[in-house]
Amino acid sequence: MNIKEVKELLSTPKNIVVTAHKNPDGDAIGSSLALHHYLLSLGHRSTVIMPNEYPDFLKWIPGENHIIKHSTDTEIAQSTIREADLIFTLDYNLLSRSGQMESDLSQSEAIFLMIDHHQQPDDYAKYIYSDTTMSSTCQMVYHFIEKLDHLEFITPEIATCIYVGIMTDTGSFRFRSTTSTTHRVVADLIDKGADNTRIHENIYDTNTISRLQLKGVALNNLKVLPEYKTAYISLSQSELDQNKFKKGDTEGFVNLGLSINGIKFAAIFIENKKEGIIKISLRSKGDFSVNEFSRDHFEGGGHHNAAGGKSNLSLSDTIDKFISILPSYKNVLNQ
Ligand code: 5GP
Ligand code: MN
Repeated sequence: MNIKEVKELLSTPKNIVVTAHKNPDGDAIGSSLALHHYLLSLGHRSTVIMPNEYPDFLKWIPGENHIIKHSTDTEIAQSTIREADLIFTLDYNLLSRSGQMESDLSQSEAIFLMIDHHQQPDDYAKYIYSDTTMSSTCQMVYHFIEKLDHLEFITPEIATCIYVGIMTDTGSFRFRSTTSTTHRVVADLIDKGADNTRIHENIYDTNTISRLQLKGVALNNLKVLPEYKTAYISLSQSELDQNKFKKGDTEGFVNLGLSINGIKFAAIFIENKKEGIIKISLRSKGDFSVNEFSRDHFEGGGHHNAAGGKSNLSLSDTIDKFISILPSYKNVLNQ
């Protein structure tokens, strides 16, 4: 990204749209809102548009109540995209990851700017800030503001938004992507007004009894394949329905398998009857790339150690396919 050109671009008021990927997570919402508040403080018109709904535990982040959801506020989303001079795509690097927003985005004549930490970025954006070593897109938004010499523009609201995404994408500062720089950024965010304890409580202490019971079902369904150092969980639509499933309820379940001593590869298969797919989340430790695995077998992608994908087969056929693929990875999983 040519930061001088971007600085020039942002030196006069623009109509800006900030977007993130489908089924937005803490990093998607946090980075979008942080950038949004920053752009407003520079005097731009800014609108955050998400492809669809997101979990309740994100519905307190400063500015969240102004987010437009393309799935339900389609017309206003479309006209706002049509009027945009600049469109930021945050926490994704393929337009197809924006779901049903893709056709509106690809028809836009706006200048696209990408800030993202996933692997293999596409080339739709004029300005690309892509770094797969970064903990989160939120950390990149911090560095973006830093590159523009505006760290003093970071308000307590912006600090809170950025903190959320760094915290959620690093599993609370534990994954390999958490560097000393990440900790220095987080320390500065606390200095700038992020209330770290309250943020943790708002995100993580939001269980309902039915979510905990759904976790019980997931744990009951957990299977281990020791010869492949692999663990997987499945949840059928009826199990979800019986436990009053709401968006976000299965967040983090895939990590339960990975927490077993000696396990290097964990998967969760979640049936979605409405979309007619099985949504898959994959996690690994060490050298085994779930990004490659997902690209090669499950129409997905993501990061080296955290990726997602989907399958159009039934739940049991998807699991059978998964198990049938494992022998070709036996060596790398046992390294
Ligand atoms: P999760 O398993 O938490 O949904 O996603 C893990 C990571 O993989 C996230 O960074 C997410 O953006 C990415 N991801 C999840 N699902 C997909 C998918 O279907 N396609 C691609 N390309 N990436 C995905
Ligand atoms: Mn992210």
